[in-house]
Order: sequence, then C-alpha cells, then structure tokens
Amino acid sequence: MINCEQDLLVNLIELSPQNARRKFRQSIFESWGWKCAYCEKDLDTNSATIDHILPKFKGGHNVKSNMLCSCSSCNRSKGSVLLEEWYNPSNFHYTEERLGKIKHWIEDNSLSIKVLSPDKATPYITNDFYIGWISN
Ligand SMILES: [Zn+2]
Repeated sequence: MINCEQDLLVNLIELSPQNARRKFRQSIFESWGWKCAYCEKDLDTNSATIDHILPKFKGGHNVKSNMLCSCSSCNRSKGSVLLEEWYNPSNFHYTEERLGKIKHWIEDNSLSIKVLSPDKATPYITNDFYIGWISN
C-alpha cells in the first residue's frame, strides 16, 4: 500500500539488491543483539556472519527462519553439517538454553511466513533469487 511519497522511496531502496541484502542481514544481527547464537560472543558489522542452519547445499534457503547471527569461528566450525550433529552437548559452547533459543527462532520465523497471504504481503527476491514475502 502506498500512503505517501516516502513509501515509494523506501521501496526503491529495497529494490536495490545490495541494500536489500544488507538490510536483511542487519535485521537478523539486530534480532540476536549482535551476539553469536551459538557462543554469545559480542559481534559488530565486521565480525558478524550469517550461518545457514540448514546448509545451503543441503537445500537450506536464504530465509530468516534458516539464518542466524554467528561469529566466524562457530560458522567455520559448523561448516556444512546439520545443527544437531554439531550443536550438541559435546560442543564446547553448547547450552540447552541457547539451543532452545535457536529452535524458537526457527519456529517463530517459519510461522510468520506461513500465515502471510499474498494480498497482505509484498514479494521480494533475495540475493540468490529465492522469492519471499514481506508484510505490508
Ligand atoms: Zn560463536
């Protein structure tokens, strides 16, 4: 819905792939308070990375429910294995609380995509051309 001139400008910014990608990643970092989801290390714009919970080559998409804020060391260490294979009690940084938080993140963000209907959402294309929805 367009209410004023600014709405159009905002949409123009979102349509620039680099800006959309940066804003999207930043919103994920902010949701995690700029802390690694696995070890809670404090991160900043230079050190924060996006970890794909289900690795991309195993079919994981660039959607919020599959992406979380991670330090580069956890991200590298997890590599391309599944979450439970790596983040379990044998992992040095593992806590039940953090795993619970990650599971909530997956559930909360999956639901917000499922309940949206196309007439209440705007399609957008992420950097790998996956089509998602942003609520209006
Ligand atoms: Zn970490």
